[in-house]
Amino acid sequence: MPTFKPVLLAFSLSLLMTGAAQASENLNCDNCKEWNRPVKPFNVYGNTWYVGVHGLSSVLITSPRGHILVDGALPQSAALIEANIRALGFRVEDVKLIVNSHAHWDHAGGIAALQRASGAVVAASASGALALRSGTHVADDPQYYGDAAVHVPKVAKVRVVRDGETVRIGPLAITAHMTPGHTPGSTSWSWRSCEQQRCMNVVYADSLNPISRDGFNFTGKGGTPDISASFAASIARLAALQCDILLSAHPGFADTFDKAAARTPERNPFVDADGCRAYAASAAKLLDARLARERSAQ
Ligand SMILES: [Zn+2]
Repeated sequence: MPTFKPVLLAFSLSLLMTGAAQASENLNCDNCKEWNRPVKPFNVYGNTWYVGVHGLSSVLITSPRGHILVDGALPQSAALIEANIRALGFRVEDVKLIVNSHAHWDHAGGIAALQRASGAVVAASASGALALRSGTHVADDPQYYGDAAVHVPKVAKVRVVRDGETVRIGPLAITAHMTPGHTPGSTSWSWRSCEQQRCMNVVYADSLNPISRDGFNFTGKGGTPDISASFAASIARLAALQCDILLSAHPGFADTFDKAAARTPERNPFVDADGCRAYAASAAKLLDARLARERSAQ
């Protein structure tokens, strides 16, 4: 959820590349260091694992016939995510699919390097795919700045997924739910994870916060498209998903680390039937406040 323009620092690592997920372009931003603090990977439920960093989620879904990775955080997070995957005993080379929530630099920045390391297919919404391929925000992004700054290392092969489409890797199945608003291509994802016979619907919710550049109005005031209704519909859609476990693009949105810390052999706090509804309710409050501000502004 960037609120400022990041600066891309290019490093000449190309001659040193070993095939590991080394970042060729690191991002420098006010929050980057804090967000990119290493975190020990941990189990969420069944075959679902947190492999991200302190402020940016990355989630691994495993199977004996290949894995799925959700989001790649910052460019400089890629090596940490790969190390987390290996620390759990899995191989990054077995990641067959990488999906993206939204193509901002703090959730998609590491995808290019992780794709190189794994050979995985990357899947995203149509708008998200445009941004990943070009390495810039799309022009109708509320945070589009209208310059040629590179925001994300370009991703070569991106498969476009439709709303409701399910992508399969071996026994795994992950479904895309379009939740536009924060970006035009914002996508939440869901899958099932099981422990013995007990299966849970896991939802990875995209950011639903109305952040924009100066001059952009979600109400359409001033000439930008009115996306207030579609944004509200995205929030309602998230609330209505079958959702036993909520994960989110920023771990803090779903209290991910608090839940991991509170976990005991008897109780898994990730299992919470109200998680998606509570997240949607707080997003609706933020959106309502933003729309009210826009409507009352002169
Ligand atoms: Zn964002």
